Amino acid sequence: MDLSDGVNPDPRRDLPSVDKLSREVAHACPELSEWAIIAASRSVLRSARSEAEDLISRGASQGEFTALIETSWAIRVAAEAGKLLAPHPVRVLNATGVVLHTNLGRSPIAAGAADAAAEAAKGYSDLELDLETGRRGNRLQEVAEKICLLSGAPAATVVNNNAAAVLLALNTLASGREVVVSRGELVEIGGSFRVPAIMERAGVKLVEVGTTNRTHPHDYENAIGPETGLLLKVHRSNFEQRGFTKEVDLQTMVEIGHAHDLPVIEDLGAGTLVDLSDRGIPREAFAPGRMALGADLVCFSGDKLIGGPQAGIILGGEATIAAVKKNPLARALRLDKMTIAALDWTLNAMLEGRAESDIPVTKMLCASGEDVAARAHKLAGMLESLGLSEVTLSVEKDTVPVGGGSLPSLELESWVVAIRGTPSGASASQIARRLREAPIPVLCRVRDDTVCLDLRTLADDELPHVVTAVEFAVR
Ligand SMILES: *Cc1c(COP(=O)(O)O)cnc(C)c1O
Repeated sequence: MDLSDGVNPDPRRDLPSVDKLSREVAHACPELSEWAIIAASRSVLRSARSEAEDLISRGASQGEFTALIETSWAIRVAAEAGKLLAPHPVRVLNATGVVLHTNLGRSPIAAGAADAAAEAAKGYSDLELDLETGRRGNRLQEVAEKICLLSGAPAATVVNNNAAAVLLALNTLASGREVVVSRGELVEIGGSFRVPAIMERAGVKLVEVGTTNRTHPHDYENAIGPETGLLLKVHRSNFEQRGFTKEVDLQTMVEIGHAHDLPVIEDLGAGTLVDLSDRGIPREAFAPGRMALGADLVCFSGDKLIGGPQAGIILGGEATIAAVKKNPLARALRLDKMTIAALDWTLNAMLEGRAESDIPVTKMLCASGEDVAARAHKLAGMLESLGLSEVTLSVEKDTVPVGGGSLPSLELESWVVAIRGTPSGASASQIARRLREAPIPVLCRVRDDTVCLDLRTLADDELPHVVTAVEFAVR
């Protein structure tokens, strides 16, 4: 476009240079580091130029050009530089009630597990050394042994996450061959884990059987041929099927697979190593129970129901696990020392019967309704004493999902402190936003223009911080 007539000057010419803008911000905000100011200036000016190009291409009015040129670039740069300089990730308080909240880092690990990870990270360790013989050791030996003790599985190994575990299992047992999966189990878990895509990358050929809602034993039988490598069962972690449905249970799949000399593996997604079925967690989440049904490998996450660090745990027979460990991909997917230390601590807590008292996820999942209600009344009392005008507080019963792509059929009883009304007339979603801007950000639920602070995922020692955040947000 020809802009030489001077009607609409090219606003790009009037933008400050990176150098000039950086100097201005450095002068106004001496506490900001230079690298961050320069990086932020570059990025702010890049988007300013693209905004300008946008205006030019749609022949914007003089007013819009002037507005762009007169934007306070320095303020934008300072804000952006501040973001770059803030530590990441930053601690937040989870008042959503969703124990395994993917956006909030899924499973918080125990303080002891975190200390163990920090200890392993800070110094040298015997990670791959046998101190007795002075020879090379195996980094996973101890955690694998403990997983076997807890599960009764003959062998076990651990990789970076469950997606890696599934990839590795498929690639090891069925590379270049066919893998039979029910159509009803070709799931997508959040964060781009899609069963068909993982299978393709694992180098196996997907053979879908059954229909979306119904799969029968004969569907598997009919699909088995000379190219079949294994049968795969995938847990429907984040949705439920109701109505006219049928799925083939693991035990039946094992019978079919083994009759044809084929391994059967299960991607359990969220599994436990401690049986929590008497605490309301579905029995099929107990990973050792899945092995007991005859599965050749069972894979699940370390940071879902286990409540440990991000990891993918694989249970199996000795020969199968040995093959998995020998796969060159295992090296690419291996655990780092911090994770091993945190996982080791978490496994010890389970072996010592301390899971429910010492592992935060287990504690939160198993907390009784009365416990949660008591904490809700405590928080409500603390908030009452702030004497906030025009704010109504009430303690209400509610339900929450477990979250994190784990147990779609399970709704936990929970209790919330409901906050209605504000002196400023702000809406509940505006309050929720302010809560996220608090010194320690608080994430809550919003329903029917009500802010709900759910106590299932808040610990006693976090309540004072929640009070500070509410005081900050409701003004
Ligand atoms: C969560 C989940 C995964 C992915 O596990 P990550 O540990 O997040 O890699 C894979 N499969 C199923 C069935 C899951 O539920």
